[in-house]
Amino acid sequence: MKATDSSRTPAAWEWHNDMPLENTLRLPARASRALILNRVDPETLEQPEVASWLADPATRIFGGGSNVVFVRSQVERTVRVAASRWWVESEDADQVDLVAEAGLGLDALVRETAARGWFGLEALAEIPGTVGAAPMQNVGAYGVELGDRVRWVDAWDRHEGAVRRLERDACDFRYRDSRFKTESGRWLILRVGLRLSAKPPADWPPTAYPGLAEAVAAWQDKEGRPPAAMSPLAYAQMITRVRLAKLPDWRAGLPGSAGSFFHNPVVSTLRAQALADRWPGMPQFPVEGGIKIPAGWLIEQADLRGYRDGAVGVSERHALVLQHYGGATGETFLRFAEYVRDRVRTLFDIELIVEPECVTD
Ligand SMILES: Cc1cc2nc3c(=O)[nH]c(=O)nc-3n(C[C@H](O)[C@H](O)[C@H](O)COP(=O)(O)OP(=O)(O)OC[C@H]3O[C@@H](n4cnc5c(N)ncnc54)[C@H](O)[C@@H]3O)c2cc1C
Repeated sequence: MKATDSSRTPAAWEWHNDMPLENTLRLPARASRALILNRVDPETLEQPEVASWLADPATRIFGGGSNVVFVRSQVERTVRVAASRWWVESEDADQVDLVAEAGLGLDALVRETAARGWFGLEALAEIPGTVGAAPMQNVGAYGVELGDRVRWVDAWDRHEGAVRRLERDACDFRYRDSRFKTESGRWLILRVGLRLSAKPPADWPPTAYPGLAEAVAAWQDKEGRPPAAMSPLAYAQMITRVRLAKLPDWRAGLPGSAGSFFHNPVVSTLRAQALADRWPGMPQFPVEGGIKIPAGWLIEQADLRGYRDGAVGVSERHALVLQHYGGATGETFLRFAEYVRDRVRTLFDIELIVEPECVTD
């Protein structure tokens, strides 16, 4: 561990041996050796022992472990950003520019900014994980994606051994995808610059997604105020209630989950028409590049909603969520996921793609 000048100042970085790797699936996982970065300034990252650890392609990056399946329970070399400050860079009557370090919990940032009356992140309430992992798959919920609010991302380029600032356009944000994901292993995200609004958007509060119109109406009944008077914090709290009614609580223990386990498949318009002819009730949503079909609906039609096989199963409340009830290994879990994919493939000839990162080597 690096020596510190004062006992109250945490070391800029720390080494841990045989460190447990927390993950919301609650699968057993440990790192033989882990580097924890409490600071992400160039001076720290350029220290030879830090830089050489980061340069090694075998060093794996983890955040809060809410989007990983530890198929392999022992990982040799890891790094995690623990630096978790955030601050306002500039603010006027219309907008707020802020910066958040990668180790901060995304949900904490959502709540802190919503509590200050700033609009923009409230729909992302209750998504687990860190700010640093969020650009990776461009986390999103209820029609909002993190990429919509990003100004830039500062990342350590592990190929070049230097900090780079990527402006939003260079991040290549797409549905659950980004440059950081396509160039996986290259970037260690250090901090994210965001732009929020000091005023509500024109359609405030947004209710287009299932369950939201009812939830806003319930808020209106309880508060006796018009929906337009809803604060961003009240909206974030409402999203929390809606999510917890159908998703497992990631702060609680078992059952563990990694959230939505599969991407919603996107098929061509022609294929979507053929599927709709064969399955008249199939929900379909036009998106860039084709027609999106909810993977949860496909799993439900395969009669797997609520299906349990020993220590693993499909959630009763949300068919897109695969659960771990305790005692399973990562391999068992992945075999079960393969079984779900097989059933959907047989029924619809659609290939489901696994969303979380599977740690297999
Ligand atoms: C109950 C539940 C609900 C969820 N709901 C949603 C949702 O609504 N929308 C959504 O989009 N996602 C959702 N997720 C998925 C998950 O919350 C996100 O993918 C989250 O961003 C993962 O963050 P993490 O810190 O846990 O990352 P980890 O799981 O630790 O890592 C995920 C990936 O990010 C990489 N990574 C982590 N930190 C960094 C970094 N600093 N720099 C570079 N790469 C990094 C890792 O290498 C890995 O590839 C949900 C998950 C759960 C368990």
